[in-house]
Amino acid sequence: MGVVIERVSFRVGGRTILDDVSAIIPTGSVTGLLGPNGAGKSTLLRLIAGLHTPTSGRITLDDAPLATLGRRETARRIALLEQNASPTIDLLVREVVLLGRIPYRSGIFGGFDGAEDLRIVAESLAQVGGTDLADRSWGTLSGGEQQRVQIARALAQRPNLLLLDEPTNHLDIGGQLGLLAQVRDLGLTAVLALHDLNLAAAYCDQILLLADGRLAAAGTPADVLVPRVIAKVYGVDSFVVPHPRGGHPSLLFAPSPPPRPFAKAGESSL
Ligand code: ADP
Ligand code: MG
Repeated sequence: MGVVIERVSFRVGGRTILDDVSAIIPTGSVTGLLGPNGAGKSTLLRLIAGLHTPTSGRITLDDAPLATLGRRETARRIALLEQNASPTIDLLVREVVLLGRIPYRSGIFGGFDGAEDLRIVAESLAQVGGTDLADRSWGTLSGGEQQRVQIARALAQRPNLLLLDEPTNHLDIGGQLGLLAQVRDLGLTAVLALHDLNLAAAYCDQILLLADGRLAAAGTPADVLVPRVIAKVYGVDSFVVPHPRGGHPSLLFAPSPPPRPFAKAGESSL
């Protein structure tokens, strides 16, 4: 059950963007999708969301191949929050969240603002602690508030699977930790593309590490986030220490090769 990615490759214009990627995303787990810029994280999320079709291989959701689900069913089951997603027209927060109900409208011209839709909108905003934002204009929100409202919009889709592309970008540290704790508390199957390896180690059940379109490593944070793997994929030295609270791996980085030591106080650095 959950999402099964079987030998998926994706090529575009003669370029291989994802190459023979296989992974299992168990129901109810939080998976961190890591990898350097350009590794293929966003592309893999779009494939899982059914927005791209694999060139070869296949993806199944709860045993149903995505290809057989159809657009509407896919949109009901899977919510993708894209990188830098932002409505361009100015809407009220409650209207932004209501957009998540589009896959449930009855026919092309059907409404999606019935009593049930409005109830789900209110509930979704409450789930991200955004009830007080409902009547604000979208454009006046802070980056962190916008991010939470976007997640409420995704939740209003009532998805089985929540896909978030770099959701912690532009958030301060409190916002980052709060957002990931909230995502965990939802108890949904979630896949998050993240840049911060420490956040991934603290909040994810499993890590998929992409490099150049290939799966470089997969497993628990403790299995994947080891100095040998990090050096290979990111080209930096790292040290792993158990986190003082919780014991999950916590990483310290140093450029590779190590720089000259800093001059001691009182010594000239010249
Ligand atoms: P990431 O999210 O890990 O930074 P992406 O999935 O956005 O990586 O992109 C992976 C690679 O695929 C990049 O080199 C990007 O330029 C390329 N790419 C993504 N989408 C397309 C496309 N539609 N056409 C051509 N190249 C693409
Ligand atoms: Mg990306």
